[in-house]
Amino acid sequence: MADKYELPLVTDIRRTVLIVDDQKINRKLLESILEDEYTVLYAEDGEEALKVIGDVRGGLSAILLDLVMPKIDGFGVLMRIREEDDLKEIPVIVLTQQEDEETELRALAAGAMDFISKPYNPKIIRYRLSNMIRLRESSEIIYKAERDPLTGLYTRDFFVTYVNQIISLDPMIDADFITVDIDNFKLMNDLYGHTRANDLLTAISETILKEITKKKGIACRTGADVFSIFVPHRDDAKEFLDGIFGPLALREDIPQFKLRYGIYVHADLKMPVATLIDRSSMAADEARGQYNNNCVYYDDKMRMKLLYDQMLIDGLREALEKHQFQVFLQPKYSVVGRRLYGAEALVRWKHPKMGFISPALFIPLYEKNGLIYVLDRYVWEETCRILRKWKDKYKREFPISVNLSRVDVYDPRLPEFLDELVKKYEISKNNLHLEITESAYTRDPEQLISIVNMLRGKGFVIEMDDFGSGYSSLNMLTQMPIDILKLDMNLLQQENATKENPGLMKYIMEIAKWMQVPVVAEGVETEEQLEMLADLECEYAQGYYFSKPVSELDFEQYFLENKV
Ligand code: C2E
Ligand code: CA
Ligand code: CA
Repeated sequence: MADKYELPLVTDIRRTVLIVDDQKINRKLLESILEDEYTVLYAEDGEEALKVIGDVRGGLSAILLDLVMPKIDGFGVLMRIREEDDLKEIPVIVLTQQEDEETELRALAAGAMDFISKPYNPKIIRYRLSNMIRLRESSEIIYKAERDPLTGLYTRDFFVTYVNQIISLDPMIDADFITVDIDNFKLMNDLYGHTRANDLLTAISETILKEITKKKGIACRTGADVFSIFVPHRDDAKEFLDGIFGPLALREDIPQFKLRYGIYVHADLKMPVATLIDRSSMAADEARGQYNNNCVYYDDKMRMKLLYDQMLIDGLREALEKHQFQVFLQPKYSVVGRRLYGAEALVRWKHPKMGFISPALFIPLYEKNGLIYVLDRYVWEETCRILRKWKDKYKREFPISVNLSRVDVYDPRLPEFLDELVKKYEISKNNLHLEITESAYTRDPEQLISIVNMLRGKGFVIEMDDFGSGYSSLNMLTQMPIDILKLDMNLLQQENATKENPGLMKYIMEIAKWMQVPVVAEGVETEEQLEMLADLECEYAQGYYFSKPVSELDFEQYFLENKV
């Protein structure tokens, strides 16, 4: 750990204290004692004091309070601030005229923490004040572990407390919340081992600590491979992050990596800090699906998206009833020989008002709320209908794969439903391939293995989809009963960047060979990629290089009737 980059301490922040006294001379005297260390506010009587306290609220570190004043006296002020939740913890030191035990006792009983009597001794006043402030602040923090032992960054709990403190000391601060997330970290753990993966975490943390601290920010680790940052606002956050992490790409002692950023600028500091962290991490999650963009800003657009999402959920039933969903097909080719080998069924929503809606917009939503099985069953049935039609019309059979969501796979009625479908349309089971996404394998692998085994036993062909998108591990792969492995397109896109060093992909291909499982590479867009796949002895390819997903009729024309 690089200790030389110390995080700013709470004690480095300039605190504000309020002096309440009706005598100008007393105010001046106390101000001169405290002004070097503190920002000093003052009030001439109880009424004015309450007004200042009401304005500054949590931003006050302490109050020095005279008891005898016109309008509202010191006791009145004490009483009022003890009634309010966010004010009652502010330490109050009472100023008394001379040793007067009865008054002092009354003040302590009313909630004062300490008292000072005249004549004022500057040293004693300074000590009492700073001790008192420290006591109060540390009692808030003391129960929370401060640092994450691996990276030396703050823990999430401490980070939240600390951010709250910074905000209370400077409520007008214009700040951003940033989430930094490492792509594919779980795979890296398997591929490089924990020690090297940890080296990467440490290197990233050191960079954050050093560079973010320079910008007067603070940071914590919110998950295994996720970091949260609170930093004064800047317009070039993405460029700044690219700039600080860039040099790490040149280091040979740590694995290659890719980061995702979620940035919430001008954070609304009236919201709970946990919400602010969530917003930036929501933005980072948005960046997960986008292979050519690693940075998403949380903004009005995202807020609009939440509304849009609700509309997609509300519209599902009607869309199904009115047959607004269409199955598109994307061809799969053999890499050697480049022959049509099959297709994947991908759903499209032809919305009467909004035109074509991409499944990437609605599938994840329906997966989250469990409605996906209704749509998926519709798509499977459409696919069976197409298989049957082509069998009759072209005397041609080849496999079409359909997508299964996690919800489908854990549904006990699934095998029966599929059985009935293939019976109804009289198609062979080995032509209905089932793509099960990698992420489905992670929750309850044992149950999933038994379901998948049952489906394979019945004769269905199982393709593991999106492998390498970051959910599962290489160890798990070897235990999975699968027939075909589909590589997530991220792998290919990343591979491209480092052509001399086909690391991850080559390794996965070797495991697949050893498991005797053929591999489909997704997202093939260029001749160059196809050649690389041939070198790696990858069996099948799918992607824009051959064709985008097209409608049923287009597929017939282009691929079955060859009317190019
Ligand atoms: P997926 O199963 O990984 O499907 C591949 C996605 O990559 C498709 O996006 C396809 O259009 C796109 N793609 C194909 N070749 C290329 C290429 O060369 N470059 C690029 N950049 N992209 C390519 P699409 O159709 O938008 O589908 C997105 C995701 O939605 C699918 O990812 C799948 O997870 C889900 N999905 C689609 N249809 C269904 C469905 O009927 N049921 C379920 N459960 N999920 C579906
Ligand atoms: Ca798929
Ligand atoms: Ca896929």
